[in-house]
Amino acid sequence: MSKIRVAVAGPRGRMGSEAVKMILQDDELQLVCGIDYKHEGEDIGEVLGLQPAGAPIDINFGQALAIHKPDVVVDFTTPDIVKENMVIAIRHGVRPVVGTTGLSPDDIKELDELCRNHNTGAIIAPNFAIGAVLMMKFAQEAAKYMPHVEIIEQHHDRKLDAPSGTAVKTAEMIREARQELKQGHPDEKEVLDGARGAYYGGFRIHSVRLPGLVAHQEVIFGAVGQTLTIRHDSINRESFMPGVNLAVKEVMKRTALIYGLEKIMV
Ligand code: NAP
Repeated sequence: MSKIRVAVAGPRGRMGSEAVKMILQDDELQLVCGIDYKHEGEDIGEVLGLQPAGAPIDINFGQALAIHKPDVVVDFTTPDIVKENMVIAIRHGVRPVVGTTGLSPDDIKELDELCRNHNTGAIIAPNFAIGAVLMMKFAQEAAKYMPHVEIIEQHHDRKLDAPSGTAVKTAEMIREARQELKQGHPDEKEVLDGARGAYYGGFRIHSVRLPGLVAHQEVIFGAVGQTLTIRHDSINRESFMPGVNLAVKEVMKRTALIYGLEKIMV
C-alpha cells in the first residue's frame, strides 16, 4: 500500500511541530515538505532540532504543493491565512486537514462548495482532541434536558482568536439541540462592558487567556436546584495528534468538506 504523502503548513508552531513528529512516527504516512515563511530549503527535522526528516521547507504554498505533490496538507498556521491556504490546496486537488481556527460559517460554506466542485475532501476540526469532541457531544445531549447553559473556555495567552473554535462549535451544537432561549434576568445590565461574555443564540461564552493554560473548556448547565458541569482539559498538544492522524487517513476517502472530528469518529 502506498504511503499518504503529507505536507505540514506551520511546521515550527506548537501544533505544527507535534504534527510533524506524529507523521514521522507513522509508517503509513510520508512527510514530503513543510510550508513556512522562513527557513526556505532547510530540512524540517533539523529546524525542529530533530533527526533530519528528508523533507524540505518551502516558503510558497502553491509552489510547495506543485513540487512535492502531497495528497494531504495539514494546516496549523494563523487565522488570517488559513482560508487562502485551503483555497489553493483544494484547487490543486490536495486535501486540507485544518486545525487552524478563526474560519467563519460563511468561509466554511464557501470552502465546502469549492471542495464539491473539485471533487476533493477536506476536514476542518476546531478541536482534534477526542475527549473534547465527547465533551461537545455530551453538552449537546445535556442541552435537550437542561437548556440553561453557559460556556467558559480557557486558553494560553498566545491564542489569537476569541472565542475559541471549540467554543463556537459547542455553541452551534447546543443551538441545534434546544430552542432559542434568552437567559438571565430580562432587566440585566452590564456595569462593565463584556462582563456577561459573548452572546450566542441566547446564551453566553466567556474566554479566559492566561499563561500556563493549554486548552480547556467547561460547559455549565443550570436548572432548579442543580447544576451540571462538563469539562475537558488538553494538558499538552500531543492530545490532539490521534485526531489529526485519523483525519489525515479519513480525508483521503472524502469528496466534500467535513466540519468537526465527531463526523469521522465511529
Ligand atoms: P503557533 O505556535 O503560533 O503556530 C503557528 C505557526 O504558523 C508559527 O510557527 C508561525 O510562525 C507560522 N506561520 C505564521 N505565518 C505563516 C505563514 N504565512 N506560512 C506558514 N506558517 C506561518 O500556534 P499554535 O498554537 O500551533 O496554533 C495554530 C492554530 O491551531 C491556531 O489557529 C490555534 O487556534 C489552532 N489550534 C487548533 C487546535 C485543534 O485541535 N484544532 C488545537 C490547538 C490549536 P511564527 O511563529 O514565526 O509567526
